[in-house]
Amino acid sequence: MKIKSIIASILFGAMLFSFAACTGAPADATTEAEKTAEDTTAPETETETETETEKVTETETETETETETETEAPVTEPAIKYAGLDSGIVRDGTPKKYFCLCFDDTTRQDLKIIEMCKKYNYYKVTFFLSTGLYGADWSSGVGVEHKRFTKKEIQSGIYDGFDLASHTKNHLPLDQYQNNVKKVVDELEGDAKNIYKLTGVYPVVMAWPGGDPNVTRKLMKIAYENTSIRLARGTTSTHKFELPKETLWLQPTAEISEATLMSDFKRFAEAECTEDMLFFCWGHGYELDIYNSYNKLENFIKTVTETEGIELVTVSEFYQLFKDEIPAYIEDAAE
Ligand SMILES: [Zn+2]
Repeated sequence: MKIKSIIASILFGAMLFSFAACTGAPADATTEAEKTAEDTTAPETETETETETEKVTETETETETETETETEAPVTEPAIKYAGLDSGIVRDGTPKKYFCLCFDDTTRQDLKIIEMCKKYNYYKVTFFLSTGLYGADWSSGVGVEHKRFTKKEIQSGIYDGFDLASHTKNHLPLDQYQNNVKKVVDELEGDAKNIYKLTGVYPVVMAWPGGDPNVTRKLMKIAYENTSIRLARGTTSTHKFELPKETLWLQPTAEISEATLMSDFKRFAEAECTEDMLFFCWGHGYELDIYNSYNKLENFIKTVTETEGIELVTVSEFYQLFKDEIPAYIEDAAE
């Protein structure tokens, strides 16, 4: 009987995991979902116990019930660790300037970026990984080295201490697949699951692959309704510091290779802060080879980390801090 209960608990745990992973419930919603699932599942287990213990005394039945409670306890613990929840940052109503930096594609140039970040003790940086493209070499299409790290290299701890998020599994032009919900979900959630297996932390943010022309509202809706991804970054610089209106359509402030990068940041640093502000910066490691801009990026990182009054956050942390205020997707927003 006890063994049966344990098996039931394990199966139940597995059910919870697939629910959280497949339905796209965000971190906090999952907790609610877990509670609900637990509530509805519990009586079934009870019934089973009662049926099987019909012929035993009341005392024995009580013992069974106690055992049931004991074995179920671990299942009620949050089974999945979601990214960005342990920033330690508290929003106390005082407006702040938030700053995000992120890089797409996990190419070999990231090693230099990581070295720079570590030099300035700057770990609030997000890297977007496509787990279906480990070791892929796209150099010929880019003109400089564009080699992604292998799974083994990433497992060796290159990105340890940094935020590893999704860039979809195979970096496909998703607009061509938007009528195939299953495929899109596999690209998004499949990548998130793989990253979870790799790091033990479940990502809830991503960068849309291939640039904004490949993103449609239909894709956003699929992501919203069918996956756990709750924030997705586009590629069009706004040069503004406003928070996004929908997190599944977050447009960055600036790109690392833009000539205006430093002047944009200076405006941000000097701006009066009367409401929460965001400077969202993105780029690719391989651009540093295209423009030979390693020094430029290091100078930018030095400036950012030495500027006072700025809250450095990973993209995952930004999502977690604002998830209750900014909707992920607005159904009737203009196309
Ligand atoms: Zn990319």
